[in-house]
Amino acid sequence: MLKIAIQKSGRLSEGSLDLLKDCNVKFSKGKGRLVTPAQNFPAEVLFLRDDDIPQYVEDGVADVGIIGENVYLESKRNVSIIKKLGFSKCRMSLAIPRNQEYHGVEFFQDKRIATSYPGILTDFLEQKGLEADIHSISGSVEIAPGIGLADAVMDIVSTGSTLLSNGLKEVETVLKSEAVMVGNKSLDATKKQILDQLLFRIDAVLRARGFKYVLLNAPNENIAQIIEILPGMKSPTVLPLAEQGWSSIHSVLDESDFWAIIDKLKALGAEGILIVPIEKMVI
Ligand code: ATP
Ligand code: ZN
Repeated sequence: MLKIAIQKSGRLSEGSLDLLKDCNVKFSKGKGRLVTPAQNFPAEVLFLRDDDIPQYVEDGVADVGIIGENVYLESKRNVSIIKKLGFSKCRMSLAIPRNQEYHGVEFFQDKRIATSYPGILTDFLEQKGLEADIHSISGSVEIAPGIGLADAVMDIVSTGSTLLSNGLKEVETVLKSEAVMVGNKSLDATKKQILDQLLFRIDAVLRARGFKYVLLNAPNENIAQIIEILPGMKSPTVLPLAEQGWSSIHSVLDESDFWAIIDKLKALGAEGILIVPIEKMVI
């Protein structure tokens, strides 16, 4: 039985639940339940506060857990990062009052900086050879300069609108973070085997998320050129259409490329282009 810890409710919950669902690990999320067994996989899911997960994984209360890289780094717990999961992406930045001039990171020397992540900030300042006065506070960090508690803040930024509405501007990125799976460092052989099974599924799901399946119709004389820009997993599938001189071409595309490629395909006479999500991809 593999014990998997995920965030009970918050910005990691949906992504964590979706990932387990896409891996076909089914369980009922009973209201207020702390732990629930999976119905079709040798695992149990624990619902916890994200900040508690590193310690629980280190102690072996949970075997693996899904948390933000930022929480992993801040916790300094003895657990290993098993896999980056590609969701709940955010950055942690230093911000200062908007009306202050900023010429570089030396600005922060001897300043008072408010943050909920003193560990990450200490490491960053040390790396830059700077010393500052770190004020560790647990919520609403962005109001600290306004009330005279600090000269700057270091916090999670997604759009920057919270900073803006508090009269702050973002001046340095300290860290980029995404959800990661962390694991206990001494799992026994049985647990390792279950984890490998889960990781195999996670790989298939994550790989599929980056790709789309493309189907299109094209005049036969342009097939060769179209195939050149549509490499596919091995090579694209080409099937004759009922209409003479036309074929249907199927392939797999990296999602990030697809707009550029779609234009080229259209220029080569492709019609009826369908872009379909891929659920799992095993190579
Ligand atoms: P908990 O009650 O479990 O302690 P929390 O308030 O500490 O929750 P959330 O705000 O739910 O945490 O954020 C959890 C994680 O989601 C963060 O540590 C970070 O890794 C990630 N995250 C992604 N985008 C954002 C964002 N825009 N704001 C805050 N966190 C984000
Ligand atoms: Zn938290």
